[in-house]
Amino acid sequence: MKSTENELFAGKVAFVTGAGTGIGRATALAFSSRGASVVIADVAEETLQETAQLIEKQGGHSLAVVCDVTQEKQIKMALDKAIDTFGRLDYAFNNAGVEQPKAPLADIEVAEWDRIINTDLRSMFLCMKHEIPLLLSQGGGAIVNTSSGAGVKGIEGQTAYAAAKHGIIGLTKSAALDYAAQNIRINAVCPGFIDTPMMDRFSGGTEEGRHEVISQEPIGRAGKPEEIADAVIWLCSEASSFIVGHALVVDGGQTV
Ligand code: NAD
Repeated sequence: MKSTENELFAGKVAFVTGAGTGIGRATALAFSSRGASVVIADVAEETLQETAQLIEKQGGHSLAVVCDVTQEKQIKMALDKAIDTFGRLDYAFNNAGVEQPKAPLADIEVAEWDRIINTDLRSMFLCMKHEIPLLLSQGGGAIVNTSSGAGVKGIEGQTAYAAAKHGIIGLTKSAALDYAAQNIRINAVCPGFIDTPMMDRFSGGTEEGRHEVISQEPIGRAGKPEEIADAVIWLCSEASSFIVGHALVVDGGQTV
């Protein structure tokens, strides 16, 4: 990496949820390698600590906070710790989420619907509710929320997940309008099939399942978590300074 890229986010602080594995981990590492201090949050402590070690190994600074994004108090506490430790917040990547086991709508229990909507959609509201005042207090910043290909098209057997991911785009666009004039840019990223533990669970972890998933990708392969991280970094950087309320599809052509 060129030294100017190393310094892209020097002195800045990023908050990343779902940072224990997959897209969140890759993005936390990407923020760190560009000079940001990173507050990494996840409900799973063991993998979160592994991410912290990876950041340390590449010479970065992180604060690991165990945080369940369905719990408002835990989000507030994580952000309070971020300010206590690093003194500021510049970027937030609201990314934690869970997949929905495939099922037609009438077979989804109400508790399952609530679990997915709470984890994948309500959490984005809660995170932004507590991040935005911190960004406002220092004159601005950038937020990226993780939606999905399921946020831009319907998917059979995925009503709860697709409702949450479509909801994230409406939430993102409207929040972006609320704060555009106050120098906070809020955007979403919509990944296609990305090689992460979530994809392993979704595909059943078999060669056959993997092949079936990849066959839906015109590019002929699954995406890498780093390819989503690059999009998030761009959406947080000055290179995208006129991009507001956009849902950026990064999906190898899956939803084209
Ligand atoms: P992943 O399962 O590897 O990572 C998700 C992380 O979120 C995990 O570390 C998990 O512990 C954490 N998490 C789950 N529930 C949480 C909670 N309540 N509080 C805090 N953390 C919690 O999955 P991933 O593929 O990296 O997914 C990241 C995001 O990308 C999700 O929002 C997912 O819906 C979205 N996405 C993934 C794909 C894909 O193909 N992998 C495609 C489109 C969208």
